[in-house]
Amino acid sequence: MKPRKIRDVSFPPKVVFFKPQGIPLREVEIVNLTVDEYEAVRLADYENLKHYEAAKKMNISRPTFTRLLESAHKKISNSIVEGKAIRIEGGDFKFSDKIFQCKRCGQFQNIQKKEDETGSCVNCSSDELKEVFPDSFRRFRRGRQKENL
Ligand SMILES: [Zn+2]
Repeated sequence: MKPRKIRDVSFPPKVVFFKPQGIPLREVEIVNLTVDEYEAVRLADYENLKHYEAAKKMNISRPTFTRLLESAHKKISNSIVEGKAIRIEGGDFKFSDKIFQCKRCGQFQNIQKKEDETGSCVNCSSDELKEVFPDSFRRFRRGRQKENL
């Protein structure tokens, strides 16, 4: 089998866990949307890009993109119809640019500036930005899971 291609993701999700109201967490089933599936939804449904344009951005073929988007739609519809939680994590991806997150407001941005300069937040002007790596969106360890909910 051919190894799966690493997909390019331009922005990570702001929120990585969605839980239905009124169901205790321990009884909720969790659907895992991967970060590359999230990116497919963001590009096609949120940014309204054509599939071939979105595929180009993610550096994959159009059929692969379409399959990725279909898989994301199945998971999201299953979750909202059956009242499941959605966790966004994992997937074969890398960021297409360096991504920084504002420590104050959580805004993500990519910065095209001198390498030694991180600039300031486009949203709140704070200069406390930290670089975000794909590893922060890999599987959570058990202990960390609770903190993130
Ligand atoms: Zn900010």
